[in-house]
Amino acid sequence: MPLPITRASLAGLNQRFFGAPPLEVLRFTAETFGERAALLSSMQRAGCALAHMADRAGLALDVLFVDTGVLHEETRATRDRLAATHPRLRVLTLSPRQTMAEQLAEHGPLYLSKAGQERCCELRKSAPLLATRGRYDALIGALRRSEGGRRGAVTTFDLDPELGALRVHPLAHTSDDELDAYIAAHDVVINPLHAMGFPTIGCFPCTTPVRPDEGARAGRWRHLADVTYCGLNPTDREDEASCIVLDERYRDALSPNQEVRQ
Ligand code: SF4
Repeated sequence: MPLPITRASLAGLNQRFFGAPPLEVLRFTAETFGERAALLSSMQRAGCALAHMADRAGLALDVLFVDTGVLHEETRATRDRLAATHPRLRVLTLSPRQTMAEQLAEHGPLYLSKAGQERCCELRKSAPLLATRGRYDALIGALRRSEGGRRGAVTTFDLDPELGALRVHPLAHTSDDELDAYIAAHDVVINPLHAMGFPTIGCFPCTTPVRPDEGARAGRWRHLADVTYCGLNPTDREDEASCIVLDERYRDALSPNQEVRQ
């Protein structure tokens, strides 16, 4: 029998894992979903730290990397270093249907207007990920409440109705200091752009470094007013999540009454 899951029905699971160590959430997700779990990373520091944690715990996860075709070379090189450093993880690159040159020829520079940016992010970021629909039941991401904005209330478990999968955020309750401490204590692969003034990293036409007096996301879509997120993460979108349907075999594991294993 199919297992329908709503945000309300995830409340117990979120309660059960509230404040749990990221590794506990990673282990639970990998053990529950097996090869139907994957980690989504844009090769920023939090995602790379999660990949390090997963490898250290012996979890052989797929790592999905969306290459929009207009990323900085440093980001692609970070992907390659991550794959070489953590051979247990299978790093998979997802690409848009068109090259940016083909898209420019057909649509022009979409990213120069707000409506165009939404379409461009849809074509170059969301569509490649949506092409994996049906392959994974749980997608692990690196969103954290301490990022603020729309992410200020992110939950450990959330829905992605478009993808028909759970979104899992093991770092939801991890503070900036805790993330910094993990990175300082371990040999985490780090995108060199962070040291060049990019607190967050995206496509080069839409990402600049930030000044010390600016917020972390000030360098994203600086040329457009009121654009902060690309929409790849359901948490960042305005639409309300409704429901996903998973296989019955996950029913016991997703029950809020199970003990959290320490
Ligand atoms: S960030 Fe800019 S270039 Fe990249 S997909 Fe979005 S609009 Fe296009």
